[in-house]
Amino acid sequence: MRGKIIIISAPSGCGKSTIINAILAKGELDLQFSISATNRPPRDGEKDGVNYYFLTEEEFRDEIGRDAFVEYEEVYPGRFYGTLKREIQRIVEAGHNVILDIDVKGGVNVKKLYGDEAMSIFVLPPSVEELRRRLEARGTETAEWIDKRVERAELEIGYAMKFDRQVVNDDLASAISEVEALMKGFVG
Ligand code: ADP
Ligand code: 5GP
Repeated sequence: MRGKIIIISAPSGCGKSTIINAILAKGELDLQFSISATNRPPRDGEKDGVNYYFLTEEEFRDEIGRDAFVEYEEVYPGRFYGTLKREIQRIVEAGHNVILDIDVKGGVNVKKLYGDEAMSIFVLPPSVEELRRRLEARGTETAEWIDKRVERAELEIGYAMKFDRQVVNDDLASAISEVEALMKGFVG
């Protein structure tokens, strides 16, 4: 049987990687992370083929030319991110469920494409001020990129109701349980 598709979107810094990693670490649901391609540089500790397939802009454009993406977006100026068709196929055809951590526009597009095969979840921050605090505390972005991410967050939050479900990440443990319960309900 083909696996199902779970889409998680949220403004950057909302805590979606933390939530996804906690659920993957429990290993209770037959879930595999869809590794996206991007031309942004790796952060400290990020590995090619684990967190992302890190490509140059030229390599990214070559993949676009080969029609290799289910979807891709220029999420921030000059920063491309995309879901590879071969990545989704590899996972769902092996019967595993796949989890996609993608931006709001990509999330809406993938849901449209896969319909009932997919469930989309939007993770909201308690407030934009708290989102900024989390990005600052994470310490992975320069002040300029934090501003860009916060600015975009305001636009992204406007997409929340286009998703099947919404979860507020205020208390982390509660948000993890809530997302996990939604996933269990969907993949059975
Ligand atoms: P995203 O993947 O959405 O960009 P991260 O998972 O990297 O976000 O989380 C951003 C930062 O916020 C991290 O430093 C993380 O530890 C922290 N964080 C996540 N959830 C919470 C929470 N509920 N309360 C406080 N800090 C949180
Ligand atoms: P980050 O640079 O923090 O890892 O990711 C920035 C944003 O890009 C996040 O909103 C993340 O969900 C999004 N993103 C990651 N992979 C993809 C993808 O394959 N497609 C799209 N559309 N967005 C992605």
